[in-house]
Formats: sequence, structure tokens, C-alpha cells
Amino acid sequence: MKKKLAILLEDLETFETPKLSLEQYPTPSGLAAEIAVTANLLDGDKDFFIDLGCGTGVLAIAMSLVGFKTLGVDIDLEALKLAVSNAKRLNSNASFVLADVRKFNVKGRVGVVMNPPFGIKRRHADKVFLEKAFEIGSVVYSVHSAGSEGFVRGMADSYGFEVTHCWKYRVPMKKLYRFHKKPYKFIAVEVFRMEWM
Ligand code: SAH
Repeated sequence: MKKKLAILLEDLETFETPKLSLEQYPTPSGLAAEIAVTANLLDGDKDFFIDLGCGTGVLAIAMSLVGFKTLGVDIDLEALKLAVSNAKRLNSNASFVLADVRKFNVKGRVGVVMNPPFGIKRRHADKVFLEKAFEIGSVVYSVHSAGSEGFVRGMADSYGFEVTHCWKYRVPMKKLYRFHKKPYKFIAVEVFRMEWM
């Protein structure tokens, strides 16, 4: 199932002209499939997931294809337009909304999945995403650059969350920006599953 899902997701469109200031990097399809299949195993009892900073929608769509109700939130209208057409392409029922995650709110606690800006251009740009995730989440799946573990664990702790899993991967990132010299390169990432105690 994971492989099939990854192959389907590979067909999605990504950022046409990614905005560096928003750190728009799409989640590689293999990783998105991995996260969705794992969430389905560990959190199949949750029915609703929100994808914070959903970009072109790959995570939200992956989550919807394993059976969750999913809503993607992003500040960039162009990315959301692609997300909507991507969802249509794969018959996904994920929905999308234009909002700044800092101002976004929901009633009650929900599942959260996200691959936020890594904070390479703006240090700790992922901080506001984690804050929001801990405010609205009952369980949070979050992708960060390698070396974030101390930072993420510290924040989780102060919001009453337990880090139940930390998976480390090396994932292929395709060339997106002109300053990228190779067609793709492997980057080390950490994926966390965190649960509200
Ligand atoms: N999660 C997507 C995109 C990752 S890139 C994927 O996995 O493919 C990070 C995304 O966060 C971008 O789409 C960017 O537009 C969005 N973003 C950055 N700051 C934001 C904010 N304050 N509110 C909502 N979205 C934001």
C-alpha cells in the first residue's frame, strides 16, 4: 500500500515558482506515503487531520487517501490552487483553506500533520507551526531538518506533549530553486510523533 500510495503521489504537481521567503519545499512522495501509512496504523481511531502549511497538498492528500478526513491550511493562494487540483486528480476529498497558521483556529483537538518551513532562511520559522500544532493537536506528526530533536522535544515538553517516536530519514529533494546545483540531493530529516498527555 505504501509503495502504491507513493507512486500515486509522485504524479502530483509541485510549486511552479516556489517562494523562498515561505520556504516552500514539498514533502517527497515516499515520505508522505510513509507518514500517512504510519498514522493510519497508530492513529486510525482519529477521524480528522489538519495539515498546517499544506503547500501543494501532498501530505493532506496522502492522509485522505488512507481514510482520514483532512483539511490543508496555507498562506499562499497559488500553492492552494495546485493543492485543490492535485486532490481532484487523485479523487481525494481533502479540503483546503487560505489562512495564516498563526491566526488559524479550530474547536476542540484534532490530529495535526505538517512539514513546516525548516527555518533555514528564517531561524525557527517552524516554531510558530509547533506552537499552533500543540495548541490544537491531540496527536502531531511533524517533519523537521536533522538536528531539531532537542528543540522539538523541549517545545513538546513545555506544551504537555510526549514525543512517542522520532524517525530519521534521508530523503531525496528535487531541484527547486536556481541556486540548487544538482537535480536532486539527499537531505536528512526527522519526523516526530507527539501525543498530548
Ligand atoms: N507541507 C507542504 C509544504 C511544505 S513547505 C508539503 O509537505 O509539501 C512550507 C509551507 O508552509 C509552504 O507552502 C508555505 O507557503 C507555508 N507557510 C509558510 N508560512 C506560513 C504561515 N504563516 N501560515 C500558513 N502557511 C505558511
